[in-house]
Amino acid sequence: MMIRPLRPRTFPCFALCAGLTVRPDGRVLACMCRDREEGSDLCLGDTARVSLQEAWHSGAMQRLRQRFVDGDLPGICRECRHYSPAASHLLAPPPSHGVPPGQ
Ligand code: SF4
Repeated sequence: MMIRPLRPRTFPCFALCAGLTVRPDGRVLACMCRDREEGSDLCLGDTARVSLQEAWHSGAMQRLRQRFVDGDLPGICRECRHYSPAASHLLAPPPSHGVPPGQ
Protein backbone atom coordinates (compact mmCIF):
# COMPACT_ATOMS: atom_id res chain seq x y z
CA MET A 1 0.00 0.00 0.00
CA MET A 2 1.30 3.45 -0.93
CA ILE A 3 0.82 6.26 1.58
CA ARG A 4 0.45 9.75 0.18
CA PRO A 5 2.67 12.33 1.87
CA LEU A 6 0.80 15.24 3.43
CA ARG A 7 0.79 18.40 1.33
CA PRO A 8 2.23 21.59 2.80
CA ARG A 9 -0.67 23.60 4.24
CA THR A 10 0.15 27.21 3.56
CA PHE A 11 -3.10 28.04 1.75
CA PRO A 12 -6.54 27.86 3.36
CA CYS A 13 -8.26 24.57 2.80
CA PHE A 14 -10.68 24.51 -0.12
CA ALA A 15 -13.37 23.24 2.25
CA LEU A 16 -13.30 26.61 4.04
CA CYS A 17 -14.05 28.41 0.78
CA ALA A 18 -16.67 26.03 -0.61
CA GLY A 19 -19.59 26.37 1.80
CA LEU A 20 -20.90 25.49 5.20
CA THR A 21 -22.31 22.28 6.61
CA VAL A 22 -25.48 22.29 8.69
CA ARG A 23 -25.99 19.21 10.80
CA PRO A 24 -29.47 17.85 11.52
CA ASP A 25 -29.21 19.20 15.07
CA GLY A 26 -28.66 22.74 13.70
CA ARG A 27 -24.94 23.04 14.33
CA VAL A 28 -23.11 24.97 11.63
CA LEU A 29 -19.70 23.62 10.67
CA ALA A 30 -17.04 25.32 8.60
CA CYS A 31 -16.06 22.05 6.99
CA MET A 32 -18.07 19.18 5.60
CA CYS A 33 -15.72 16.43 6.50
CA ARG A 34 -15.21 15.21 10.01
CA ASP A 35 -15.03 17.55 12.99
CA ARG A 36 -18.35 17.13 14.72
CA GLU A 37 -17.53 17.80 18.35
CA GLU A 38 -19.30 20.60 20.19
CA GLY A 39 -16.90 23.48 20.76
CA SER A 40 -14.48 22.30 18.10
CA ASP A 41 -12.43 24.76 16.08
CA LEU A 42 -14.62 24.13 13.05
CA CYS A 43 -18.00 24.59 14.77
CA LEU A 44 -19.36 28.08 14.04
CA GLY A 45 -22.53 27.98 16.09
CA ASP A 46 -26.13 26.93 15.90
CA THR A 47 -28.80 27.94 13.37
CA ALA A 48 -31.05 28.86 16.32
CA ARG A 49 -28.63 31.70 17.15
CA VAL A 50 -26.73 32.52 13.97
CA SER A 51 -27.77 32.82 10.32
CA LEU A 52 -25.77 31.07 7.64
CA GLN A 53 -24.76 34.45 6.25
CA GLU A 54 -23.49 35.54 9.67
CA ALA A 55 -21.60 32.27 10.09
CA TRP A 56 -20.03 32.51 6.62
CA HIS A 57 -18.82 36.08 7.21
CA SER A 58 -18.02 35.62 10.88
CA GLY A 59 -14.70 36.45 12.45
CA ALA A 60 -14.40 32.78 13.41
CA MET A 61 -14.59 31.70 9.76
CA GLN A 62 -12.09 34.36 8.69
CA ARG A 63 -9.74 33.34 11.50
CA LEU A 64 -9.94 29.70 10.40
CA ARG A 65 -8.77 30.62 6.91
CA GLN A 66 -6.10 32.91 8.29
CA ARG A 67 -4.77 30.18 10.59
CA PHE A 68 -3.62 28.22 7.53
CA VAL A 69 -1.73 31.25 6.22
CA ASP A 70 -0.18 31.80 9.67
CA GLY A 71 0.82 28.14 10.03
CA ASP A 72 -1.40 27.78 13.09
CA LEU A 73 -4.07 25.53 11.63
CA PRO A 74 -6.48 23.60 13.84
CA GLY A 75 -5.19 20.26 15.07
CA ILE A 76 -7.79 18.31 13.13
CA CYS A 77 -6.60 19.95 9.91
CA ARG A 78 -2.94 19.06 10.47
CA GLU A 79 -3.38 15.41 9.58
CA CYS A 80 -6.57 15.58 7.53
CA ARG A 81 -6.33 13.63 4.28
CA HIS A 82 -9.05 15.75 2.65
CA TYR A 83 -6.99 18.93 2.69
CA SER A 84 -6.80 20.63 -0.68
CA PRO A 85 -5.36 24.14 -1.03
CA ALA A 86 -7.97 26.68 -2.07
CA ALA A 87 -5.52 28.38 -4.40
CA SER A 88 -5.29 25.39 -6.72
CA HIS A 89 -9.04 25.61 -7.31
CA LEU A 90 -9.18 29.39 -7.54
CA LEU A 91 -6.29 29.59 -9.99
CA ALA A 92 -7.38 26.72 -12.23
CA PRO A 93 -8.51 27.83 -15.71
CA PRO A 94 -12.26 27.57 -16.25
CA PRO A 95 -13.47 24.55 -18.22
CA SER A 96 -13.77 25.23 -21.94
CA HIS A 97 -16.91 23.09 -22.45
CA GLY A 98 -15.60 22.25 -25.88
CA VAL A 99 -15.73 25.83 -27.17
CA PRO A 100 -12.42 26.90 -28.77
CA PRO A 101 -10.88 30.06 -27.27
CA GLY A 102 -11.99 33.32 -28.92
CA GLN A 103 -15.40 32.05 -30.08
S1 SF4 B 1 -8.14 20.20 6.35
FE1 SF4 B 1 -9.79 18.67 6.55
S2 SF4 B 1 -10.77 19.14 8.50
FE2 SF4 B 1 -9.56 20.93 7.93
S3 SF4 B 1 -10.98 22.28 6.81
FE3 SF4 B 1 -9.93 21.00 5.30
S4 SF4 B 1 -11.25 19.24 4.92
FE4 SF4 B 1 -11.89 20.21 6.87
